[in-house]
Amino acid sequence: MLNFDFQNPTRIHFGEAQIKALSKGIPLNARVLLVYGGGSIKGNGVYQQVIDALGEHTWFEFSGIEPNPTYNTLMKAQEIIKTQKIDYILAVGGGSVVDGAKFIAAAALFEGDDPWDILAKNHPITKALPIGAVLTLPATGSESNGNSVVTREGNKLPFSSPLVRPLFAVLDPSVTLSLSDRQIGNGVVDAFVHTIEQYLTYNVNGKVQDRFSEGLLQTLIEEGPKALAPDTKDDLEVRANIMWSATMALNGLIGAGVPQDWSTHMIGHELTGAFGIDHARTLSIVLPAVMKVRREQKREKLLQYATRVWHINEGDDNARIDQAIRLTEDFFKQMQVPIRLSDVDLGGDDIDLLIDRLKQHGMTELGEHGDITIDISREILTQAV
Ligand code: NAP
Ligand code: FE
Repeated sequence: MLNFDFQNPTRIHFGEAQIKALSKGIPLNARVLLVYGGGSIKGNGVYQQVIDALGEHTWFEFSGIEPNPTYNTLMKAQEIIKTQKIDYILAVGGGSVVDGAKFIAAAALFEGDDPWDILAKNHPITKALPIGAVLTLPATGSESNGNSVVTREGNKLPFSSPLVRPLFAVLDPSVTLSLSDRQIGNGVVDAFVHTIEQYLTYNVNGKVQDRFSEGLLQTLIEEGPKALAPDTKDDLEVRANIMWSATMALNGLIGAGVPQDWSTHMIGHELTGAFGIDHARTLSIVLPAVMKVRREQKREKLLQYATRVWHINEGDDNARIDQAIRLTEDFFKQMQVPIRLSDVDLGGDDIDLLIDRLKQHGMTELGEHGDITIDISREILTQAV
């Protein structure tokens, strides 16, 4: 196992009717900015529950954070932060709203010319407003990690800081019942790929992390399809297990002390930035190709994945790896996400643009060994056609 520091201070309030717990997390004298997205929270009762829970708090609101939040939208929140002397951000929504809240919180106290430098120039974050979150879409893990992804003019870039990790997160599985099948499928696949990117690398004897990861992968494989099946889709136990899996997949625990890949995410970001494809749908296209192109480097872990996650015990090593990749693709199809570029009407002609953007964004040494060069990214995208 590699050395690591691990701390996850996000307090989780899990379960039905837990939104009311948020009043405990926010100081009574805080001036709160409630930030949310396109309004789904008004249709499913979450907005009302949040307002009720805020009770005596002084609060204002900022809405319209879009999926794959943009710099231009997020910067508009700075005006109300200044005029109303906001000192606490409450994010209510999916990963885009929570990620957006992180950028808003860091931009508010940014010392420099343009907060975009946090993403474009890795400008360090030294201060940020405190954040609380009410999660409505299990997928990203953003509710209890320090990561955020923001888009500006097609450039989709990540940043990370412990200073923007939410102080608390409410996870009420019942608020996920209003999700569309598309968002359910996307969420399960995003959490699955987060787990894979911290698991399917090379062996460092992280036995605890491996077993946690395998448990999460198996849970998502078992429960994901149930959340799409008519008979079981409203089962709160199914939703609860998916919700907790997605949080655990990217809260730092399974990634502590093990190598991490993230090439699927970085290549996927270019697909979203250039063509607007949903985040998870870029991952389901790129990951099978990464598994195929990197099968020698990942051989040992692919075999472990085949045995422990898919229970494939027959056949020679190559056949078992092939079958594990095939079953991964079948699972993605069951979750109703695309697995090839051609499934989203893209093809070989579109690869040059993606490669240019990877270069422009400095994504030239990806993967757990830092050896996924631009040429290998091209091979991966070609494999994904
Ligand atoms: P999302 O973009 O936050 O939300 C997708 C859609 O789902 C929105 O239209 C939203 O509508 C709707 N929605 C959310 N909750 C709903 C509910 N309970 N009922 C009905 N509709 C609901 O989706 P996401 O997958 O959670 O986030 C994706 C973003 O996170 C991407 O930008 C991705 O790159 C990023 N990401 C971040 C991390 C991280 O660690 N921070 C990791 C992976 C990905 P409204 O706008 O109306 O609410
Ligand atoms: Fe993701």
